[in-house]
Amino acid sequence: MKTSEEVFDVTIIGGGPAGLFAAFYSGMREMKTKIIEYLPYLGGKIPYFYPEKVIRDIGAIAEATGDEVTDQLVQQAMTFDPAIVLGEQVVDLERLEDDTFKLISSNGNVHFSKTVILATGFGTLHSVKLEHPEAADFEEKSLHYTVRKLADYHGRHVLISGGGDSAIDWALELENIAASVTLVHRRNEFKGLESNVTKLRKSRVRMMTPYEILQIHGTEGQLRKVTIQHKDNKHDRQDIAVDRVVVNHGFQINLEPITNWGLEMADGMFVVDSSMETSMKGVFAIGDIAHYPNKLGLIAGAFNEGPIAINHAKKLVDPKDPVVPLFSTEYRPLTDKE
Ligand SMILES: Cc1cc2nc3c(=O)[nH]c(=O)nc-3n(C[C@H](O)[C@H](O)[C@H](O)COP(=O)(O)OP(=O)(O)OC[C@H]3O[C@@H](n4cnc5c(N)ncnc54)[C@H](O)[C@@H]3O)c2cc1C
Repeated sequence: MKTSEEVFDVTIIGGGPAGLFAAFYSGMREMKTKIIEYLPYLGGKIPYFYPEKVIRDIGAIAEATGDEVTDQLVQQAMTFDPAIVLGEQVVDLERLEDDTFKLISSNGNVHFSKTVILATGFGTLHSVKLEHPEAADFEEKSLHYTVRKLADYHGRHVLISGGGDSAIDWALELENIAASVTLVHRRNEFKGLESNVTKLRKSRVRMMTPYEILQIHGTEGQLRKVTIQHKDNKHDRQDIAVDRVVVNHGFQINLEPITNWGLEMADGMFVVDSSMETSMKGVFAIGDIAHYPNKLGLIAGAFNEGPIAINHAKKLVDPKDPVVPLFSTEYRPLTDKE
C-alpha cells in the first residue's frame, strides 16, 4: 500500500480518450492533474478493441487508425506532465472533512484530490480467458485475446476460438494475411452479423464446429499445437499445428464498485448537469459514462465534455478564476520544456 499525502487539483479516473483530452485541458488551466488507469496502458477502448481500425468521425482528422489517434492523444495529454498511474483500479471514494477526496485503489494505494473526474467508460474491461492452467504461459506471446497488430500474423498458422462478431471479423481479416486460419467454435451456428457469416462460409477459413480447445502445447511462450475435441463425441480429437491462437470468448465490463458510491444513475451511466457535474459536488463524469439528454457515445463528444468539466472543477479549486474557455493558439511553445 502506498499513500501519498500530495493533493492534486483534479484526479481523472480512466485514461481513455475522454480522460486523456481532459488531462491536456486541465494542464492548460494550470491544474495539478493525475490520471489513474486500470489497464497497463493508456487509450481506453481504442487500443483494446480497434487499434488498427480507421477512425473517420473526429473533426480535423480525415482518417487515422486507432493507434494513430491514441498516440496523438497520449502525446497531447503529456504536454503538461500530469501524474500517470497505470494498472490500478479505483474502488472507493471518501470525502474528508476539508472537502478533499480520498481515492482508494484495489491494491490499497491511496490518492488525494480536490476534484474528481470519472472518465471510466462503461468500466474496466476483462477478456474472458481460456480456461487452461498453462494458458497464462503463452499470453501476449502467442496466445492473444485481441488482435493488436495484423502484421504480427503475417504468414502464421492461426487458430481462432469463438463464434461471435469478433471471432468472425478477425477470421475474415486474417484470412488475407495468415498462412492458414482455423476457426473453432463449440456450436454449429455463429452469432455474428448475417452478411459476415455468409462471407465466412464462402471464405478459405477452415471451420471446425462443434469443437472446443482441449489442450494447448508449446514451449517458452510459443504455441506449436492445439488439440481440439468434438463437443458430442469425446473420442473425436484433432491436433492442429499453430503458431498463433486468438481467443474471442467475449469480455466483461465492470463498473462496480463505483456504482455504489451513491451517484445518481440512469441507463447504467452517471447523470450529469450542464457542467458535467454528477449528483455529488466536485465529482464530474465525461465520455461514455456521462448521461444527459441526447448524449452521443462518440470520441468527438468526449472532447467537448472534458473541457466543460475541467473549467467547472477549476472554479471549485480556485473560486476567483473564471469559467471561461481558453484557446491554445499562442505563438509560443505551450510549455517551458519545448
Ligand atoms: C469496436 C468499437 C469501435 C468504435 N469506433 C468508434 C469510432 O470510429 N468513432 C468514435 O467516435 N467512437 C467509436 N467507438 C466509441 C469510442 O471508443 C468511445 O466513445 C470512447 O472510447 C469513449 O471514451 P472514454 O474515455 O469515455 O471511455 P473508454 O475508452 O472506455 O476508457 C475508459 C477507461 O477507464 C478505465 N477505467 C474504468 N474504470 C476504472 C477504474 N475504476 N479505475 C481505473 N480505471 C478505470 C478503463 O480501463 C478504460 O481504459 C467505438 C467503440 C467500439 C467498441
